Amino acid sequence: MANNPNCIFCKIVSGEVPCLKLFEDAQTLAFMDISPVHDGHCLAIPKQHYPTVFTISPRAIAAVAQTTAKVAKAVEQAVKPDGLSIMQANGPGAGQSVGHFHFHILPRRIDDQLLFNWERYQTPGERVRLTELAERIRSFL
Ligand code: AMP
Ligand code: ZN
Repeated sequence: MANNPNCIFCKIVSGEVPCLKLFEDAQTLAFMDISPVHDGHCLAIPKQHYPTVFTISPRAIAAVAQTTAKVAKAVEQAVKPDGLSIMQANGPGAGQSVGHFHFHILPRRIDDQLLFNWERYQTPGERVRLTELAERIRSFL
């Protein structure tokens, strides 16, 4: 599927918009979430633009799943959370705010009371902290 010039994640893939990159291969990219719920919150995406699980190709979702598992292991070691959720939203009712398929790799804390439709972009991550965490996660990849 062709890339979408209006999509923020396509712009990250092309380098037009910067990101704190964790991992990249031919088909996928993983980077820090700009507005993390907890330390280590990051995203894994296909490089091609697929809006949702309903349209992504079997090959692309398999590739993103592999990247997600790889990065999740590094996040687990880097931030030692109480748990870690892999989460993926499709459509506004599910809380999806960026229409380019992505898995959230989401460290959890006991009693964090996190709901699936948390308030996106509530607290932008502090750049220095995000950079430190990205370096630490990369060291476990
Ligand atoms: P969702 O609401 O499930 O579609 O998730 C979109 C996620 O993308 C949110 O957690 C945002 O914080 C994150 N996000 C949006 N723009 C950027 C960006 N430029 N760089 C990194 N993360 C982003
Ligand atoms: Zn896109």
